[in-house]
Amino acid sequence: MKNYGRTSVSEFLGDQIVFRNLLPFDSRLPGLPHLRQKLNFPENFLPRKSMPEYGAVIAEIVRAARELTLSNASIRRVIYVGDTRMNDGQAFLNICRASDWKGIAFIGADRPEPLKIDLERQNDKTIYSANRWKAIEQFEAFLAEQDFHVDESTAILFDLDKTLLGARGRNDRVIDAKRLNAAEDTLRDALGSDYNPDQFQAAYHELNQIEFHPFTADNQDYLVYICLIISSGLISLQDLTASVRAGKNSRFEDFLIYVEEKSTSLPPKVRDIHQKVFTRVQSGDPTPFKTFRYNEFKRTVEHMGHLSDTASVEEILSQEIVITEEIRRLANRWKEQGALLFGLSDKPDEATLPSQELSAQGYLPVHRVATHGIGEDNGI
Ligand SMILES: [Mg+2]
Repeated sequence: MKNYGRTSVSEFLGDQIVFRNLLPFDSRLPGLPHLRQKLNFPENFLPRKSMPEYGAVIAEIVRAARELTLSNASIRRVIYVGDTRMNDGQAFLNICRASDWKGIAFIGADRPEPLKIDLERQNDKTIYSANRWKAIEQFEAFLAEQDFHVDESTAILFDLDKTLLGARGRNDRVIDAKRLNAAEDTLRDALGSDYNPDQFQAAYHELNQIEFHPFTADNQDYLVYICLIISSGLISLQDLTASVRAGKNSRFEDFLIYVEEKSTSLPPKVRDIHQKVFTRVQSGDPTPFKTFRYNEFKRTVEHMGHLSDTASVEEILSQEIVITEEIRRLANRWKEQGALLFGLSDKPDEATLPSQELSAQGYLPVHRVATHGIGEDNGI
């Protein structure tokens, strides 16, 4: 593994990127509010990445992005680069279905076993999975063998989280660690000297397990809020898990009502957070714990490119969120070939973009922050 120096996601994507709220960073492009009527979506509906409707929104945004940069070209093919077969694979298939584009996806990760490539074909759609990020070079050769041209009619969609940044199996633990640190910052601030890190971590790890996903909806905002309520002493972890297993409190919404009924006994700062989360969940906001996500933004950008250029690759990979060099290299080549490059992130906007206050202090959006590009040696 080698350090290829400082770069940023915006070096090759510019501002052509969209986050969880489906509002493209480049405000010339249409976002969900503009597309809602055209696509017949109900009010307040925000499709998540694995839903068919997500594919329809992205296809519209990508078409508009091509029109904006090259009005005489139209997209006919799509390449999707991501890190999970489940979520990214499904998003890819849904984008192809919504658009009638021919498509090939690359799903990567670094894993310790010998190199293995899996091909999965569904009509004219192919998912190419590899257990090395470096295999994206072989993927490029595979595209040529399949006569899958990369040119002005090709859109290349990049997942951000654990693909372009914090590559899965290489650097993804730093992303998770920073989110956990942000949760700790939030609880420490809300509980003051009553904050107990061991109690928080026990609750977080227990409730983060798949067994509790029906209760937490696998939503980190919900999970951190639940940990805050446990840490405030309103209910113990044991009593909560027992009541979830017994089918009481089986949905997060039930738990919110339970807390609401007892909210007068919460410490003032916790009560304030509870009231905000309660209101936002009722209005359909999938990211109701804003202070936690603002802290996640800070923790994230403060751990990008903060180490010296001479630090060892091992040190950088264990402490910094870095760019996946093998993808960056290929993205630049695809861009030269005329393809449209576009970034997709499922991260909440609050964890990716600075608030007005932080922006005034000089904080940049995550995709514009310079950090190290780390990848396997290509002999250069
Ligand atoms: Mg990802």
